[in-house]
Order: sequence, then C-alpha cells, then structure tokens
Amino acid sequence: MSRKIAFKTLGCRLNQFETDALASEFHNAGYQIVDFEGKADVYVVNTCTVTKQSDKKSRNIINHAARKPGEGLVVVTGCMVNSQKDALENRDSSTYFVENDRKTSIFPMVEAHYKGEILHPNSLDPDVFDYKPADTTFHTRSLIKIQDGCDNFCTFCIVPFVRGRAVSRPFEKIRENILQVLEFGFKEIVLTGVNIGRYDHEGMNFELLVEKILEIPGDFRVRISSIEPDGYGDRFIELFNNPKLLPHLHICLQSGSDPVLLRMRRMYSLSEFRAIVDKVRSSHPDFNLTTDIIVGFPGETENDFKATCDIVKDIGFSHIHTFKYSKRKGTRAERMPGQIQENLKNERSEIIRLIGEKNKRKYRNSLIGQTQTVLVEKVLDGKARGYGEYYVPIVFPVSSASKNDTITVRVTGISDGDDPDLIGEMLP
Ligand code: SF4
Repeated sequence: MSRKIAFKTLGCRLNQFETDALASEFHNAGYQIVDFEGKADVYVVNTCTVTKQSDKKSRNIINHAARKPGEGLVVVTGCMVNSQKDALENRDSSTYFVENDRKTSIFPMVEAHYKGEILHPNSLDPDVFDYKPADTTFHTRSLIKIQDGCDNFCTFCIVPFVRGRAVSRPFEKIRENILQVLEFGFKEIVLTGVNIGRYDHEGMNFELLVEKILEIPGDFRVRISSIEPDGYGDRFIELFNNPKLLPHLHICLQSGSDPVLLRMRRMYSLSEFRAIVDKVRSSHPDFNLTTDIIVGFPGETENDFKATCDIVKDIGFSHIHTFKYSKRKGTRAERMPGQIQENLKNERSEIIRLIGEKNKRKYRNSLIGQTQTVLVEKVLDGKARGYGEYYVPIVFPVSSASKNDTITVRVTGISDGDDPDLIGEMLP
C-alpha cells in the first residue's frame, strides 16, 4: 500500500512553488497526497516567518501536525526553520527540521527514514534551484522559480537573513522548466522568486529574461508575481504590449511617505513609484495593480499614514495586502525608536483594509462589458470559476467545461460581498 503524505504551505508564492515541486516528486514516487486534516504517514509543514503572525500560524500548524495520532513523521521546513532552528529543535525531537537551501533533500531524507537509515539534510549539497518540474500541483498555474534570496536588506525584513543573498537561475534551466510544464499541459506560468526584478545571471537582467521567456514558442501566458518597484526600466513596461504577458503586477509600495520609505531603506521614492504606475497605465488604462502596505512602521506619524491612505486611493490598487509592522529579530527596524502601539496599528490596518475593499469593487466594476479569456480553475453545479487576463475571478454558467480549459467570456456583472467575483457569460 502506498504511503500517504500531506502538505501545508504558509507564506509566499516561492514557498508554494517549492511545495508543488516536493509534492510532485513524492507523487511520482508512488506516495498518495492527502488532505492535511486527514491521516497521513508524513506531514510536511513549509513555514513562513515574515511577521509575528506568520510565526504564530506556523507554530500552531507544527503543533497540530505533531499532535496527530499515529506514527506520522513531521517534516518542518521553510523560513522559520532558518530563523529559529535551535528553538524549534529543542521543542520536539521526533521531527525533522530542514532549512530552505536543503529543501530538495526532503524526498531522499524521508525515503532513508523508511529504510531505517538517517540522512541528515546537511550531508547533501545545498541547492535552491534543484527542484524537479511539478506535474501535479495544487494550482492551475505553474509557478516557475527564477531567483532566490535578496540583497536589499530593507530595515523591517527578515527575508535576506532566512533566504540568503540573491541568486538567479540560469535562463537555460528556466527554459527547460517552462517547456516541461507546458508539456504537462499547463497554460499559464507565474514567474516567482524573492526579488525577481533583480534577476541577474551572466549579464541577463530581468527585462531581458522576460523577453526571452515570451519568445519561447507555445500557447501559454505569463504572469509576474510579486515584484519590487526597482531593478528594471521602460523596456520591461513595454513588454506588456505582448498579449502573452498578462496585465497585472503586485508591486510592493509599503508606505506612501518618503521619510518612511527612507527609514525602511526602500530603493525608490514616491515619485519614482508613481512614474512606474503612470507608464503602465498610459499604455494599459485597465492594468491591474495590487500592492503590499505596512502600517505602524516605527515613527510612522498621522501625516505619514494619511499620505499612504491618499496614494493607495489615488492609484486605486485593486487589492491591498496589509501587514501590521512586527519586530523581526536582527533587523535594523527592531532597534528603531518610535515603535507604534498595537491598537494604533490595528486602527490603521482596518482603515487600509476598507480603502482596499472600496478600490477592489470600483476596479472590478470597471471591467464590466470587457471580454476576458478565463483559465478555468473549478467547475461546480453548472458554473465555472477562473481568472481572466487581469487576475480577477470570473464566474459563468457552463454546460460542459473542465479545469484548465481556456474560455472566452464577456463580463456582465459583479457579485455582492467584500471580495466580489465578476459574473460573465461564455462567448461562442
Ligand atoms: S526587497 Fe526588501 S522587503 Fe523584499 S525581500 Fe528584499 S529585503 Fe525583504
């Protein structure tokens, strides 16, 4: 009987990519992938440590897995292992802990465990790119890792400490990975990494890389995942004229105040950020822009916060991922004066959340009447749901359709609620 394995992923798309690749490797070796809530022989928790809340969530899930009845093996990996390995190991001796750069050793490590051997992950060479291409994933889109690590050292961020310095994957390896997933039947790829705009491999920068990827033959579309507003120029924006490159960017603003951006050690000013937005919107007025905002960064005044509210309204980000600043050990912001009270962070976070909700409805409303090519993710009770070019969910009635179909749909309306779907009808 095949062994059962369950995965839980927290945090960013990069973690998701890595879980997809691991799951695929276990699946191809005959393991059965089961729901994390069910009974499994192996539980893999891919953790995140970007905020205090992520730590808490990661710890709860590790505890939950460790408390499951039976002989389940628990493997904990991801950024929390890199930042708190000693504390984690002291808690629980029956669990394996694997750092980010050894994640690819999880499969041989588990196999060795079942043969009664012990394979310490550190005995294998570290490699952040040596993942097998994933044919069975938890998503309809295929995530493609192009880069890892970051050299920016923003003062609030623990990521450079847990993911290490920036490294880029050679284009040939990326191309190979894309061709393999296209052969598996994927129709949309998402370029992912920690700071992808800083891609740099033997003279090839991010703009050139994207251009090369768009030249790969095949019927597929390319989405950029989260990106920083620095490291590329106009050439990148011009690439959006290619219909293969989808008109959506999650571009991280973090604050609408220049003094705060400076203290965060961000690599851009507000006017530089605005210039990117203006360029994008001048050629694509409907371009979907989403962002991350940190509220309650040390020393954030009422005026700083007001400036953030003003700019997020003005740019009209259709989704805002709001983080309440939390101290991360070893970062420069941890020692900054002017730490903000938790209740004020809560208030500010709620204000941004409400602006984000309003922006979302306004943006989605503006798409009514448009035609979109939807990549179907789910079909249930005669209705299909998927994402169009702008990365907005669309629901429409179907007589027959399956996951991974691409269907041309006219947007006819919008549903109720805080996170409304567009409503559409199929076009012949
Ligand atoms: S750019 Fe800044 S926020 Fe993004 S991963 Fe690097 S250090 Fe962290």
